Formats: sequence, structure tokens, C-alpha cells
Amino acid sequence: MIIEEFDAVVVGGGITGLAAAATLADAGRSVVLLEKQDQLGGSSIMSGGWFAFSGTDEQARLGIADDSEVFVDDMRETGGNRTDETLLRAYVNEQGDAYRWLRQLGFEADVVKISSGQSRARSHLYDIHRLVNVLRGRIEARPGSRVITGCAATRLVADELGAVTGVDAEASDGAVRFLGRGGVVLGTGGFSRSAKLLEIFAPEQLAGIRYGGAGSTGDGLTMAWALGAGFRDMGYASGTYGSHPLTGDDEHELLTAFYMGAIIVNEQGKRFVDESVSYKTIGSAALEQSNGLGFEVFDSVVRAKSQPGVPLSDIAHLEAKGRVFSASTLEELATQAGIDPAGLEETVARYNAAIRSGGPDELARTALCNGVGDLLTIDAPPYYAYPAKSLMTSTYCGLTVTPETRVLRVDGSVINGLYAAGELVGGFHGTAYMTGTALSKGFIFGRVAARHIHLKELP
Ligand SMILES: Cc1cc2nc3c(=O)[nH]c(=O)nc-3n(C[C@H](O)[C@H](O)[C@H](O)COP(=O)(O)OP(=O)(O)OC[C@H]3O[C@@H](n4cnc5c(N)ncnc54)[C@H](O)[C@@H]3O)c2cc1C
Repeated sequence: MIIEEFDAVVVGGGITGLAAAATLADAGRSVVLLEKQDQLGGSSIMSGGWFAFSGTDEQARLGIADDSEVFVDDMRETGGNRTDETLLRAYVNEQGDAYRWLRQLGFEADVVKISSGQSRARSHLYDIHRLVNVLRGRIEARPGSRVITGCAATRLVADELGAVTGVDAEASDGAVRFLGRGGVVLGTGGFSRSAKLLEIFAPEQLAGIRYGGAGSTGDGLTMAWALGAGFRDMGYASGTYGSHPLTGDDEHELLTAFYMGAIIVNEQGKRFVDESVSYKTIGSAALEQSNGLGFEVFDSVVRAKSQPGVPLSDIAHLEAKGRVFSASTLEELATQAGIDPAGLEETVARYNAAIRSGGPDELARTALCNGVGDLLTIDAPPYYAYPAKSLMTSTYCGLTVTPETRVLRVDGSVINGLYAAGELVGGFHGTAYMTGTALSKGFIFGRVAARHIHLKELP
């Protein structure tokens, strides 16, 4: 077998692996980044491009008061108090460094908006395609470092003391062993594309549409599992509500009009969830409805909030694609969309009456999104309905790690030489997810892993 040696081996060419490898390359380390697909990017490059940071210049310019404490509180609440405090603290301690690095790389957020799990607008929109290319460029600019696509890591290599020293991989020209003097970083993403792992950990999610990067088959999880790694949060893997049933791999048709004022009803015209909660929680509720369908129903007031080109809020674009029903009456809308007309009329009447009277909502909804924004009556025609399902985009659970990203065995001991960051790590989100924290945490903790390796005395 061919053997190649570097200061570090990074597995997975999404935001996590790229951030780790670019940080190592910038620090003057030789690094190899292995990506099993022919293209870099994984789920990251399919994403909306939202990153969650608090206390940024963009927020300050927009008059948004936000800081680490509010962020941590929101994360705890969204995650049902099942979040690992040490990981949250590491995130907020490191977010400033990651944010400044983005600025140095030439990235500023075009838009800042409020979204799932946030009590302050803190989803920052970046050009993810450009970011992937910029990070790749930094790795390749360092002599002795390489990016290899079409090369799948198949097994972690460990020494007689159990420390990870490299990976075995299948490249286009055969098997190669890549050794990393400082260790191996796993950034292989989640398992949203693996029916086998979904069947083991989240069988109810098999009913959702399987999505995410084609390489999201849980390879990093199973490789680390084979060395005794511990797992966390597996029972909370859930889909994201809001995607059109016909959404394809080329474009993720996700709309969150409910955070702008829409309600969500099932085919019977009944609401079934407080629409202000995390879209992951809504996703689980949607799976229980007939045909797994929930219709986002809104009027011209919400329609006017459409933001062209802004993922999650671009109603006009989805309308142009023929995905949104519209009609001048609720009855007509329901008939077109396949919702029970009487059920929808009754639901909207009750919802409007509760708002007008200031009385409690029957599903205890008090705000548009996570406690923020006044509820809006739905009574300004034309009316709109967007049919949507739960999409298994990402899994957000997996390996137990220290705040330095070192992988822990099931008994709590450290697996020397093995680091993991990004979607394959557990503990950070708990039961549900805040928009933007997946890309940010990959970016932040990929960098943390790299720094830990860089600071080692390498043999
Ligand atoms: C449609 C969509 C929209 C989203 N929008 C957002 C958003 O706006 N904001 C946000 O925060 N999150 C979003 N997410 C979630 C987020 O994109 C992911 O959780 C995040 O990008 C994961 O980053 P990662 O680096 O851990 O994994 P990935 O980006 O998936 O990268 C992992 C890489 O590892 C490779 N790989 C896997 N196994 C191996 C192996 N054995 N050998 C070599 N390579 C391997 C994969 O092919 C892949 O390229 C979205 C997800 C989807 C699918």
C-alpha cells in the first residue's frame, strides 16, 4: 500500500474540513484534505449560507442588541436544555475569532435575519460557494499540502496504545494510507443520506425526504464507533419543515413564511403545532400529518415581506416556479391546494379571533418566531398556500467530544490523535436546532481542531 505522511489528515471537504485544513495550512503545517465525492462542498455548499454569530458589526449597524449570553440562553431553550454547556461556551468564546477570520478572508454578511431558535436577528448570510473556493485556495497555496477529491477514507489507523495516527483511504488509483503526525480531523458530515443509520438511530425519520450532501452517509461516525467513540443526541435527529415536496438536489426550496406570520395547517385544514418554534420541532410534527404535509397559509401582508434572493424568505421566486397557490378566498385556496375548505375557514377564523381578542392561542403561539414579533391576522386577500414537508437535511448528533474537539470514547476517555467537528458531533444542539449554527459550528470548531494540532509538538 502507498503511504503518505503529513502534519495532519483532514477527512471531509465541507465547511468543517475546509476550515480545519485552511487553518493548518495558514499556520504553515502540511495537511491533506480527503473528500470522497468528486467535488468539494458536501451539505455545506447546498446550504442557505446562513451563519449564526452574536455581537457582530453587521448587527450593530442594524441596531440589533445581541451577545454571547443571549445566544447561549437561546441555544439552551431551543435544545430543550439538553445542550452540552462546555461546547456552547467554547462556541461563544471562539465565535469572534471565526467572524474576524471571515472578515479577513473578505466576507461580510449581505443580510442579517431572525430565524429558527433565535430571539434576536443573528443569521448572517454569506456566499458559501465563494467561501468554499477561498478556503480551498488557501490549502493549495501551502507547499506540501493537498486537496484530494474522489478519495474516501475507509478506516482509522491507530497505534498499539490506541492513538489515531492516520486513515486508510480508497483513491481513484487504489488504496493509500495517509498518516498525520498531529492526528486526524473528522469533518465527514452527518448521515441524512444513510437509510441504514437512520433505521438504527431515527427510524421515524425514514418517512421524511432524504436530503443533504450525497456523501452524508455517516462514515466518520462508523469509523470512530469502531474505535469505541461515544455518541450523543442520536434520538433527536429530525427533519426540517418547510420544503416543497418536489424540491430537488439542484435547489433547496425552503420557505419559512410562518416566521413572517403564516400559520401551518394539515390537509384537514387544522393547525397542529405552535409555528414559532424551531423548524426541526415543526418537522417532527409534520411527519405525523396525513401525507406528511403541512401547508403554510398566509395573506397579502405576509406575501409583501418576500425578500428576493434571500433563502427561506423568497416567496416571489417560489411563486414563479409554480409552487405557491393563491386565491381571493380561503375556500377557493383550499380547493386548489387540496385542503379541506371548511376546516381551513374555521381554523383561520379562530386564529384571527384569538389575536383580535388578545385571548390565548389554542396552540399557545404568542409570537412569530421564538418569542419575537406580534402575531398577524390572516384577513387581507389574496390568500396563499405553500405545501411543504419535512426534509432530512442534516442530523446534528453523534460523536462525544471535548470543547477542543477531541473525540471521547464511550467511557469518557480521550482517543488520542482523533478530532471531530461539524455535523457528526453530538451535544451541541440537544433536541432542536437554531438556524446558522451548523455552518458556524463547523467553521468555528474546524478551526479549533486545527489550532489544537498546530500547538502540539509534532514528531
Ligand atoms: C439544503 C440545506 C440547507 C442548509 N442550510 C443551512 C444554513 O443556511 N445554515 C446552517 O448553519 N446550516 C445549514 N444546513 C446544514 C449545514 O449545511 C450542514 O450541517 C453543514 O454544512 C455540515 O458541515 P460539515 O462540514 O460538517 O459537513 P458537510 O458539509 O456535509 O461535509 C462533509 C464532507 O465529507 C465528505 N465525506 C463523507 N464521508 C467521507 C469519507 N469517508 N471520506 C472522505 N470524505 C467524506 C462528504 O462527501 C462531504 O463533502 C443546511 C443543510 C442543507 C442540506
